[in-house]
Amino acid sequence: PTLADDVLAGMRDIPDFPINGVVFKDFTPILLDPSLRGRIVSDTVARQRGRVDVVAGIEARGFILGAMIAHELGVGFVPVRKEGKLPSAVHKMSYALEYGTATLEIHQDAVSNGERVLVVDDVLATGGTLAATCDLIEQCGASVAAIELVLEIGMLGGRDKLGGYDVHSILTV
Ligand code: 5GP
Repeated sequence: PTLADDVLAGMRDIPDFPINGVVFKDFTPILLDPSLRGRIVSDTVARQRGRVDVVAGIEARGFILGAMIAHELGVGFVPVRKEGKLPSAVHKMSYALEYGTATLEIHQDAVSNGERVLVVDDVLATGGTLAATCDLIEQCGASVAAIELVLEIGMLGGRDKLGGYDVHSILTV
């Protein structure tokens, strides 16, 4: 089986989470499997080695994956967090959710001018979260070298919000 096959088998569908009618792709079983988890990290690292200066992970599952990938690449790690969590001066970006808005923040001094940033998260759904994250990195003066995801939900069209970026998903459903 390919890595994509094993990722598909490792994800669990949770109906009606977080709201009725949504089927949530639960990624936590993959974290329990050191072999599969390791293959995801190795696959990503093989594509990005030498191409990035720092990894940015999106709260909260992007912290877990992103930190492992940054460790293997031997580069720094930057947390992109929900509003109000980061202690020092931040840039912030709000974006629309299905109901209401969300705000993400990055430390202003987390990445610097000209650095090439790899953005990591588990799932690409509508793309709002990743588009806001890329905006934050650019507000700092750095550039988004690539975006790496485990799973992309194709029918939600998130990739269309990320035009111009190098987006890679291990599995698209
Ligand atoms: P988007 O902004 O693309 O609609 O949503 C992406 C963000 O929400 C990501 O941070 C991702 O972790 C989370 N997310 C949305 N849908 C799912 C899902 O079905 N499964 C998981 N694991 N995360 C999701």
